[in-house]
This record gives sequence, structure tokens and C-alpha cells, in this order.
Amino acid sequence: MSLLQVINPATGEHIENITETNVADVPLMYEKSRNAFQSWSQLAVEERLQYLKKLKEVMVQEMDAIAKTIVKDTGKVPTEALVADIMPSIDAVGHIIKHAKAMLKPHKAKTPLLLIGKKSYVEYMARGVVLVISPWNYPLQLAFVPMISALASGNSVILKPSEVTPLVGKCIEQLFQKAGFPEAVVQVAHGGKELGAAFTAGNPDYIFFTGSVKTGKIIQEVAAKQLIPTTLELGGKDPFIVFADANLKRAAKGAVWAAFTNSGQVCMSAERMFVERTVYDEFLQLVKKETEILVQGTDENADIGSMTFPGQVAIVKQQVQEALEKGAQLESGIHPEKWDKQSMFIKPIILTNVHMDMEIVREETFGPVMPIIPFDTEEEAIILANQSEYGLNASVWTQDSHRARRVARQLISGAVTINEAIVSVANHYLPFGGAKHSGIGRYHGEQGLRMFCHEKAIVMDRG
Ligand code: ADP
Repeated sequence: MSLLQVINPATGEHIENITETNVADVPLMYEKSRNAFQSWSQLAVEERLQYLKKLKEVMVQEMDAIAKTIVKDTGKVPTEALVADIMPSIDAVGHIIKHAKAMLKPHKAKTPLLLIGKKSYVEYMARGVVLVISPWNYPLQLAFVPMISALASGNSVILKPSEVTPLVGKCIEQLFQKAGFPEAVVQVAHGGKELGAAFTAGNPDYIFFTGSVKTGKIIQEVAAKQLIPTTLELGGKDPFIVFADANLKRAAKGAVWAAFTNSGQVCMSAERMFVERTVYDEFLQLVKKETEILVQGTDENADIGSMTFPGQVAIVKQQVQEALEKGAQLESGIHPEKWDKQSMFIKPIILTNVHMDMEIVREETFGPVMPIIPFDTEEEAIILANQSEYGLNASVWTQDSHRARRVARQLISGAVTINEAIVSVANHYLPFGGAKHSGIGRYHGEQGLRMFCHEKAIVMDRG
């Protein structure tokens, strides 16, 4: 029997062990899921939503305990767990409870002259077994939101949460058990990539994956061979463009938040700052000031917690080192050579004199690093921002609304925020997802629910 060790990354404390799911159990779990789907999909939407209502109640009651679990498993600060992981999850269930019925309602289609006298409509049919594979940075939300959408639309779900945060995986399993979902409508499998690969190869009806581009490509390849539709939510290297006419103080606060919240372990982190040369020095001083007042730690008063995963600390270290070796200037933070090897905390880093040939500008960093690059013209800013294989979110700061919209249209990304830092996933009416290597498909919004269904066209004659 293999065990997943739960270690609090901020303190190094060993919390407990979670028993891994056996790869040999995968076929049986699919069989159970397919059986559960038969009855779950036959329920009326309202009946399924009753279970989600109960789930929401359980989550609200247990909010503090869930936050403690997330903090222990990830090293993030309690506020981050509550505001950025738990609240958006509860909010998403609320949104589904309120709107799923209308969004899944069959809708009439117009009848062309050729088919006069016949009725045409579209029905949203659940797909079957949805496999959700989730990551460790927002371990509740990124598993939970696709799960509840898949369930509301009548699918059964198998979740394979990240092995890096197994305690939250267990917590999700228990939340669904406490909400009293029928047997095997939701199953959670605990383990690493071998288990994930076994589930991917196990012929689910849909795969919803959130994680790295590397894994996303592997999953897409396996899925393609079986013609399984997928949604892939992958990485980002989001640009943050500051024009000279922006409210610089606000932009600096936004930049610090967008680059350093959750220690930069956010797919939509601002990872490349492009600042108009005439205000470059002023902006740099402002972000340095804002960064220096950030408090790192584990308690309620801290702004930033620790990194979650040792492998990620190594990636950040390597990228920063490479940049410094190639001539980058360390404006804030500690030189990687002086980092405490036992600690999972990285003091936020600001780098200048960075170039497009450095990894820190090209590769996803997923850590608290802010590289700042000057630009001279609007065209140059757009070219630099689009010079990336990623395209998740982008941020534009200017008081000229025409320019803001013009630039927003030309940026290749799933979302653009104007005078705002990270796109608000709290707005469940908006579709969320990436362009280029940041992913395929959208979730949240109407699309996010309907993609777990196939649209069935029905044409009916009076007979
Ligand atoms: P991250 O950097 O977020 O850990 P990964 O892509 O490695 O990104 O992992 C995201 C999720 O994908 C985790 O739940 C992990 O166990 C799972 N995973 C990793 N490799 C595979 C694979 N080959 N097939 C299926 N799932 C995988």
C-alpha cells in the first residue's frame, strides 16, 4: 500500500499520510461511475441541484476547517485560502444553483421554409463520465469548479487531485460524502502521474485538465487517440503593460499583487512587466516600495506564504540565477546563492535589465519574480507582450480608454484586464481560458456548463 505524505511546506511539519488509490482499481472505478451516471443523468436538473445546495451548506459550515486544511497543505496564508480558493468555489456553486436550470433548458430553433410545419429544438445531454485532473496551486477551486458544472449537467465525475496537495484532495472527497451524493456519482482517486495516466487511458467521456503545458500535451495526445474531448487549462506568462498616462500608484499596487500573490504560483500571475520608458524609473521605485512592505509568514497578518512545492522553488531559483548570470539587476529580494536551503519561502524578487533571451522572460516562472522591461511605443509594447507561447491573461494600464481597447483587441490572450490586475474569476458570467499554449476551451459562464454536454438537435413532425 503506497502512501502520499502530507507535509506543511511552510513549517516542514509532517501532518499525516493519505493512502494512494491502486492503479489496478481504475477499471472498477470507471465501471461504478458509468453505473452511477445511468441514474444521475436521469434526474431532473432541480433534483441534482438539491445535492449541490447541500454541498454549498456543508462548505459554508466548514469554511474555517477547509481553510486550515488548505493552509497546511500549501503553505499559503489563511486569507489567500479563504478569499482566493474557498470563496470562489462557494460562489461558483451558488452561481450554478441559480442559473443551471435556465442554461441547460432545451431551446427552440427556428424552422426554415423547407421544414415548415415541423418543430426543432436543441437539448443538452450529459456526456457520461467526466475525468477531472487538478493541480496544487488552488487545490480546492481548480478541482471543484469543473466538478460542480459537470455534475449539474448530469455527468458522473472522477477527480484525480494533485499528489502535491493530497490533504485538500481528501477534504474534497469528504465534502461530497457529507453532502450525501449518491454512491459513485463522485469518486476521488489519490495518487500521482501514473494514476492520472491510467485514468486518462481509461476512456472517460470528457477530460478536464488543469496543470502544466507539458502534461496537457500528453493528455491531449492520449485523448486524441480515443477521440475524447478535452478542456485544457494550462500555464501563462502574463504581460502587464503600463503606459505613461496610467495612474502609476494604482498600477504599482496592482503589479505587486498580480506578481506576488500566492507567491506567484498563479496561472494568471503577471510575469512580464512592460513599462513606458518615460515613467520606468518612477514605476520601479513605486513597486520596490510596495514590495518592501509585504509581510511573509504563516499567520493572519501575513501577505504572502511559502511556496507549495520544492520542485517549483528549484525552477524559480534556476531562472533567477540564469537571468543574473546574463546581466539582470536584482532590485529587490535575495540573491539565490544566499537562499536558505531549508526554507520554502522566497522573498519577492524584482529584476531589471532583463532581455527576451532570458528564461525569466520566456518560460513560466510560477514564483514571486517581477521582471521589468521598458518600451517606447504602443506598437512595441504589443509586439513584446505577444512574444510568448502563452496567452492566458494580459493587463493594460492607461487612462486613455480608446488606447486601452485598441491594445486589448491586439493582445493574444483569453482575457484582458484594463486598469485591473488579475482577471476576476469571481465573475462566473465570463468565460475563462487561454489562447495559444495556455489552453483549449473555456469554463465558467454558460459555455462552462454546456461543454459538459453534447448538443442534441431534435426535429419533430406532428405525425
Ligand atoms: P503541476 O506543475 O501543476 O504539478 P502537472 O501538469 O505536473 O503540473 O500536474 C497537474 C496534474 O496532472 C496533477 O494532478 C498530476 O498528478 C497530473 N499528471 C501529471 N502527469 C500526468 C500524466 N502523464 N497523465 C495524467 N495526469 C498527469
